[in-house]
Amino acid sequence: MSARLDNLMMNYPLTLTQFFERSRRLWARKTLATRVPGQPLFRYTYADFAERTMRLAGALRALGLRKGDRVATFAWNSHRHLELYWAAPLSGYVLHTLNFRLSAKDLAYIVNHAEDAVVFADASVWPQLQAIRDQCPSVRRIVIMRDTPDAVVPPGLLEYEELLRGATPLDAWPQLAETDAAGMCYTSGTTGNPKGAVYTHRAVYVHCLAQGMKDSFGLSEEDVILHVVPMFHANAWCVPFTGVMLGSTQIFAGPNPQPRDICEIVQAEKVTFVGAVPTVWIAVKELVEKEGYDISSIRCIPIGGSAAPQSLIELYEKKFGASMTHAWGMTEMTPIGTVSRLKSYMREWPEEQQYAVRAKQGYPSVGVDLRVVDEEGREQPWDGKSMGEIQVRGPWVLASYYNTPESADRFTADGWFRTGDIATIDPEGYIQITDRTKDVIKSGGEFMSSVALESLIMSHPKVLEAAVIAVPHPKWIERPLACIVPKPEARDSLTAAEILEFLRPQVAKWMLPDDVVFIEAVPKTGVGKFDKKLLREQYRGWKPKDA
Ligand code: AMP
Repeated sequence: MSARLDNLMMNYPLTLTQFFERSRRLWARKTLATRVPGQPLFRYTYADFAERTMRLAGALRALGLRKGDRVATFAWNSHRHLELYWAAPLSGYVLHTLNFRLSAKDLAYIVNHAEDAVVFADASVWPQLQAIRDQCPSVRRIVIMRDTPDAVVPPGLLEYEELLRGATPLDAWPQLAETDAAGMCYTSGTTGNPKGAVYTHRAVYVHCLAQGMKDSFGLSEEDVILHVVPMFHANAWCVPFTGVMLGSTQIFAGPNPQPRDICEIVQAEKVTFVGAVPTVWIAVKELVEKEGYDISSIRCIPIGGSAAPQSLIELYEKKFGASMTHAWGMTEMTPIGTVSRLKSYMREWPEEQQYAVRAKQGYPSVGVDLRVVDEEGREQPWDGKSMGEIQVRGPWVLASYYNTPESADRFTADGWFRTGDIATIDPEGYIQITDRTKDVIKSGGEFMSSVALESLIMSHPKVLEAAVIAVPHPKWIERPLACIVPKPEARDSLTAAEILEFLRPQVAKWMLPDDVVFIEAVPKTGVGKFDKKLLREQYRGWKPKDA
């Protein structure tokens, strides 16, 4: 009989504890910082961070938490939030990042569904939670964090720094299994109730390794990261975890960051990496153009959450010297699915073609299996034309929503997650999102991509933002309506005819919007994406001209 060959490597658990302990020793002198309104950045070292995180873990234990208890955060981006990101999961608790931009109804539902035991809330957003406090019986303790210099801690509530001062630091982390829950995050439900994704230590660990790769976000110790993506939006795309793993300098954008705050920090701190959704970059663009901030230190702007218009990617690169990397993902995927990096031989391609590739959402990350499937469940060819739903599987894709048996239909019988995103995949393996299933416009039986139309319209020099929605039509069932926000200086001059003339040579005739309406602002969701559901409701009664 031959000797055993299998399983001769250590069965070492992939937990975040390993990252933290390594980081503590290696990067002690590196810096972490938080923006404080009206003051210089608050700065401390990774050594301070590690010490405070152990202290916080001691405090959490003293609060009587037990393994698996949910530690919720209700906070802007800060070093305190980062301490919670690590202290809770490493102690065996589950970090639950709450989105304070949700409605009171959704928020109360989520806190109750997750059965949060403790909530750490920033003073500036606490009133929103206070309003529903009585409806959340699972919450035993509330800790207030002073996020602004004039923050007030309501009487009777614990204060974060006091809690830390009074705590005995934990001396050793508990032994965890890699399948233990590290964190959870609810998707903002577009239909029905919000649903929770629960991240295992293993999922986050493997995701961090992949995210650091050059062909992904290429993060490293050398990077200066500015965290603008809210830490409640899919763990700020997991970057705070990867940043600690690597020892990158990390700056947290603090309460209510505005485009000017972003520009000032990028310029002063020579930020190299700063992600955000496209609406943020549209706003920042206006300011950089007007006031000439130097943001050329940025080597990578991961942009995603919704489609990044090609014109925006080009403008940032050519005018500001800041390179955008388009990526697609979901809360349910920890969150990275695809990243749009040029392959080496594509750098020989004509410039226009390179930008067209970079405006796609990219090819699947290592670790993500991806297929595009039609309504009958047939896998679509990689031809860049055939549309279907993206389905994914992999070590950081959720296997089931938390305690929501009714959402079992989001998984296929052969073990894939149905993303609800419609896309094509080209012969090089790059996906292009054409729509969310619910945003698709079906005119006379043909699907058209609202995302493609928006992207084109937003390349018009007088347009700030554009959302294209389906409106009911007696003959075609649905037709596209373009809702456009002109740039302030073009408010009085931009006409619907001008937009249609601009589009006419670029799109098939049947895809030309039936009408153009000018609006003050595109409504945004809690994480800054266009809220087309609201727009659709607003224009439900819209009457086509030819009806
Ligand atoms: P969330 O979990 O809130 O981040 O939402 C995930 C959804 O955002 C995806 O299912 C997509 O519909 C959309 N999304 C994310 N990234 C992109 C992108 N780069 N382009 C288009 N849509 C995107």
